[in-house]
Amino acid sequence: MNELKQTYLDYAASTPVDEVVIDAMMPYFREDFGNSSSIHYFGQRADAAIEKSRMNLADLVGCEADEIIFTSGGTESDNLALRATAYAEKKKRNAKVVLISPVEHHAVAKTAEDLEKNFGFTVKIIPVDTKGKVDLPKLVKLINQDVAIVSVIYGNNEIGTINPVREIGAICHEYGIPFHSDAVQAGGYLPIHFQMDNLDMLSLGGHKFYGPKGVGALIVKKSHKIRAIQTGGAHEFGLRAGTQNTPYIVGMVKAYEITRSKMDFFNKKYKMQIEWLFDSLTKTIKGCRLTGDELSNRLPNHLSMVFDDVDGNQLITVLSQKGFACSSGSACKTGSPKASGVLLAIGIPERLALGSLRITVGRQTTDEDLEAFLIALQDSVMICRGK
Ligand SMILES: *Cc1c(COP(=O)(O)O)cnc(C)c1O
Repeated sequence: MNELKQTYLDYAASTPVDEVVIDAMMPYFREDFGNSSSIHYFGQRADAAIEKSRMNLADLVGCEADEIIFTSGGTESDNLALRATAYAEKKKRNAKVVLISPVEHHAVAKTAEDLEKNFGFTVKIIPVDTKGKVDLPKLVKLINQDVAIVSVIYGNNEIGTINPVREIGAICHEYGIPFHSDAVQAGGYLPIHFQMDNLDMLSLGGHKFYGPKGVGALIVKKSHKIRAIQTGGAHEFGLRAGTQNTPYIVGMVKAYEITRSKMDFFNKKYKMQIEWLFDSLTKTIKGCRLTGDELSNRLPNHLSMVFDDVDGNQLITVLSQKGFACSSGSACKTGSPKASGVLLAIGIPERLALGSLRITVGRQTTDEDLEAFLIALQDSVMICRGK
């Protein structure tokens, strides 16, 4: 077991923390550990670090510093965006419809479901095409003054599809409806710009771009008023109570700085690796096809496929025994034999959707890793097909 080399090909589930990021975080566990709300020296050191991080992130993502709310991660950012907007818009103008796509992460989909089941909202689904992209004319048909919020995923974690966020935002603004996008997956790969992308709210999460887990940000346009859902102290402009996690905030923003500065370089590498893998795979393994958008249009490090006559969970297990870590969809679905709702929503038949595989490469992935992976995958598919 210890002898077997382990190769990680699941960078969409999480990424290792960059060494530079770890170094940047350390002082805030040790000497600069103070509570950022305290008036004394120790508090001021922590506060200064948080505010510097806030300004740096604002510069990189194209928003104002005081539009950034630091949270405990992507999931919390999505919850805050949906709940805080839904409650505020219902109170303000009795808007009760939550419009989302059918390919949202659970952090959005389950939150919308809870708003419907327990808080008197109605969820409506904006249809997507077979690639998982929101259909703009259908959005226009669904949007009206009853809509409290529109939320559409920026870059899909399961199928790599990138949504036309600017166009969606422009439609929402025409109707004056708040628009949120979950960019937790896209954040590591696309040069997101809050203002130019026509966003009112944007979710980011540190551990998808070589930062720590348990920290994220929700960016909220100043003109868009939300109601806090976590109450307590006046932290984060009164919109998210709780002592800020100084080291994690510093780490996340440092990780994002590195990500943006090396984005073009790594995206080029990822694209080449994914293209090679896809070509080799489709040439040597029968009965498989791509899910989501074409390679040229999707998240550059992302390959998602379905295989005929293969149980996706078994495939992951066999690959894992051979020392390769991939996913059969989103990480949250381990052990569940249900077909992914995202794959069903883009029209993949259930039988095929049960044979899905997601391979996501990262900074540490080498060409040799992928050559070895290809052989392991060929064997594993044969094993799963009982041949
Ligand atoms: C990972 C992910 C989340 C959840 O973020 P956490 O920081 O893990 O809570 C939400 N949405 C998308 C698209 C993701 O990829």
